[in-house]
Amino acid sequence: MVKEGGNKKALAIMDEVFYQDDVCWRGFSHIPKSGFFLKEEFERYDAKKRFEDDLDELHKKEFKEPEGCRCGEVLRGIIYSDECPLFGRVCTPDHPVGPCMVSREGSCNILLRYGRYG
Ligand code: SF4
Repeated sequence: MVKEGGNKKALAIMDEVFYQDDVCWRGFSHIPKSGFFLKEEFERYDAKKRFEDDLDELHKKEFKEPEGCRCGEVLRGIIYSDECPLFGRVCTPDHPVGPCMVSREGSCNILLRYGRYG
């Protein structure tokens, strides 16, 4: 069990290794200090820096939600996955339209596989 205030040892290690900064999450706008990034002294472990040249084009890209996909609302708890008109019809684990269906951990993917639809 984690006590109120968290695991102090783990928090100290996280504080040693990471710094926090604002991040723009899917479906949300920027959330202040919601992302953890490796500090300079650990940058040799940072894949983003290590593969910076390869990832450069990818970082410049802006990823918009596919047309009709309502992942942002699903992730914010505004709608259930099955309220998306594409759910189970156009968007399935074999032919995902949005990111919530791509991953096996995605909320739409899970509902389709294990919900009353599976
Ligand atoms: S992943 Fe598919 S089902 Fe889920 S919100 Fe996006 S389009 Fe709809």
